[in-house]
Amino acid sequence: MGELRKDYVMDKFVIYPSNLDEIKKDNSSNTLCPYCPGNENYTPSAIVSLVIKSGILQRLSDSEGNIVKDWSVRVFNSNTPIIVQNNSSLYTDKPLYSEPAYGYHQILVATPNHNESFSNISVEQWCNVLLVLQDRIRWLYSQKKVTYVSVYINNGNKCGTKIDHSHIDIVTFSEVPPFIESKALLSHRYVNENGNCPSCIAISTELDGPRQILATDNFIAFSPWASIYPYEFAIYPKKHSTTLTKISQKEIFDLAMILRSTLGGMSQVLKNPSFNLIFQLSPEKKNSRQFHWHIEIYPHISELTGLEKGFGVFVNSILPETAASKLGAAARKEIAKIVGVE
Ligand SMILES: [Zn+2]
Ligand SMILES: [Zn+2]
Repeated sequence: MGELRKDYVMDKFVIYPSNLDEIKKDNSSNTLCPYCPGNENYTPSAIVSLVIKSGILQRLSDSEGNIVKDWSVRVFNSNTPIIVQNNSSLYTDKPLYSEPAYGYHQILVATPNHNESFSNISVEQWCNVLLVLQDRIRWLYSQKKVTYVSVYINNGNKCGTKIDHSHIDIVTFSEVPPFIESKALLSHRYVNENGNCPSCIAISTELDGPRQILATDNFIAFSPWASIYPYEFAIYPKKHSTTLTKISQKEIFDLAMILRSTLGGMSQVLKNPSFNLIFQLSPEKKNSRQFHWHIEIYPHISELTGLEKGFGVFVNSILPETAASKLGAAARKEIAKIVGVE
C-alpha cells in the first residue's frame, strides 16, 4: 500500500500513506517526545547526528546498539512516513490514475532542546541545520528514482504537526510535483521571452522598497506584492541561484541570520503563530526546470474560504506594505538583540 493518486482533470497529487492508522495513532495523546535526547530509541537509527566537539563539527551515525548522544542536529527516517521505498502498490490508468508512493521521508530534528523554536534558536544552530540540510539534499539526489527533494517545516498544531519539537520534513518524489513544475515552466518561459529571470527583476524592484522586511549582504526578505495570506513573506538570495546546495558557507551564515531574525520578528508580531516554511528549490537533475530558489513562510492566522478553494481568488485583509512594516520593525529589533548577545 501507499498510493499516489492524480485528479481526473487537474495536475494534483494526493498521497494515501500505507500506515494511515499508525499516523492517526501517532498524532493522538502521546506525552513522550520521540525527538528529545534520551528518547532516541523511539525513532529509527540516526542517519546523521551532528556532534560538536571543541568547536569541530562531526557527522556521525548510529550503529547497532550504539546511539550517538549529545547531538546538535539529528536526522532519521520518519517512523510515520507518508512515502516509502518498499512499495508494492499497483499502477492504474486515468481516470483513476494511481502509482506507488515511492520515496524517502526523513526527519531533521533542528535542536536537542524541546522548548527551542526556529524563531529563537541561535544563528549558529540555524547554520548547523542548513549545513546538514545541504548534505541531505545532495545525498538524496544521488539516489535512484529521486527526481525531486521537497523540504518543509510544519510548525505548530494548526500547520500539520502534532510533534512540538522543532523539526524539518524532507520528502522525495520520483517526479517533479505539479506546483514546482509549473513554477519552473513559467519562469523558463519568462526568461525566454524577456531575457531575464522574473525573480531577479522582482528582487531589484523590492530592494529598499515598502515591502522589504530586511536585507543582508546576500539575501532579502519581503512581503510579496500580491501576498495571498496575511503576513506571508519570502526570503530570496539576491544573486541568481537555483538551489540551496549551491550556496557557500558564508552565504549559509547570512541565510541563518535572516531566517532567525525574520522568524523571531514574526513570532513577536503574531504571538507565536503556527506556520509553514517551504524551501522552493529547483529540481537538481533537470536543467530545463531551473528557477530562482527561495523560501516561503506562511503564518497560520486565517482559514480558506469558498472563493479561495473554489476559484483560486484570494482575499487578504492585510496589505503586504503594512505586514512588511510591522515584520521589518520586529526583525530589526531581533537583529539588534542577536548582535548585542553574540
Ligand atoms: Zn522533544
Ligand atoms: Zn534570478
